[in-house]
Amino acid sequence: MGTSPEKLWTHPPAERLRARDAGPVARVDASATPGFTGRKSDGKALLSRYGDELSRLQEMLYARGRSGDRRSVLLVLQGMDTAGKGGIVRHVGGLMDPQGVAVTGFGRPTEEELDHDFLWRIRRALPAAGRIGMFDRSHYEDVLPVRVHELVPESVWRARYAQITDFESELVAEGTTIVKVMLAVSRSEQRDRLAARLERPDKHWKFDPSDVDERAYWDSYMEAYQEVFDRTDTDAAPWFVVPADRKWFARLAVARLLLDTLEALDLTWPKASFDVDEQRRRVAEMP
Ligand code: AMP
Ligand code: MG
Repeated sequence: MGTSPEKLWTHPPAERLRARDAGPVARVDASATPGFTGRKSDGKALLSRYGDELSRLQEMLYARGRSGDRRSVLLVLQGMDTAGKGGIVRHVGGLMDPQGVAVTGFGRPTEEELDHDFLWRIRRALPAAGRIGMFDRSHYEDVLPVRVHELVPESVWRARYAQITDFESELVAEGTTIVKVMLAVSRSEQRDRLAARLERPDKHWKFDPSDVDERAYWDSYMEAYQEVFDRTDTDAAPWFVVPADRKWFARLAVARLLLDTLEALDLTWPKASFDVDEQRRRVAEMP
C-alpha cells in the first residue's frame, strides 16, 4: 500500500522556497528538492493529480470571471537561459484549459516598446478577469539584463524597484494574485543543457549563440537577482526560488504553488443568473 503522494511533502513549497528565506541565490542548491521526499516517478504522478485540481479551479475562476468577479492570477517566471521557463508553461500551464490561460513571453523590447515606459508592454499583457496569466520573462528583465549590461543609466534602473513594487501593489488591489518564480538552474546544468541543444537538430531553434556570451555575466546576474529578491519579495507579491536542475521537481513545485494560490481564493461556482427549475421545465418540454 502506497502512502498518499501528498505526504511526500514535508513542507509545502510556499514555506520552503520563499526567496527571503532561501539565503543568497548564488548559493542555492539547484539540484535539491526542498520539502519533497519523493522521487521523479512520485513527482510525476503527483503532478498529474495536481492537474485535475488545477483545471477544476481554473474553470471555476474563469466561470466567476464571466459572472463579474474581477479576480485573476499572474504567474511570473524568471530564470537564466535553459532554466526551463518554457517547460513550466507547457507542463503546468498545459494542465489547464488553454482558453483560461494567457501566456506572454517577453523578449528584447521592440522599437515601439522602447518608446514607452518599461511597464507599458506589461500592462497590455495582464490577465483579464478570471484568467491565469503566465509571463515567460517579465518586467524584471528591466532590472536584470538591463542592469547587467547597463542598457540604461543606473539611476534609471535603480528607480525601477520601487516602480515595480508600486505597480504590483496596484495590481493586487485590483484583484490580481501575483506569484513570482525564479527557476534556479546551476551553471553546470546550464552548460549541459546548452550542449544538448546543439546535439539535436529539433532543438537548434532554441539555441541562441548569445546565451553562451551571457554565461560570462553569471555572477552579475546572481547579484541582480539577489537585489530583485531583497527589494521586491513582498507579502503582496512574493518571490519563490525553485531549484530547477531537476525539471520534474520544478514543475511539481510550481504546480503546487499555483494550486495553493487558487485554493486560497476560496472559489465557488457562480450562482445561475436564471431560475433553474423554470429552465428545467422548459427543457423537459422541448420537442
Ligand atoms: P528568450 O526568452 O530565449 O526568447 O530570450 C529573450 C531575450 O530577450 C533574453 O535574452 C532576454 O534577456 C531578453 N530581454 C527580455 N526583456 C528584455 C529587456 N527588457 N531588455 C533587454 N533584454 C530583454
Ligand atoms: Mg533563449
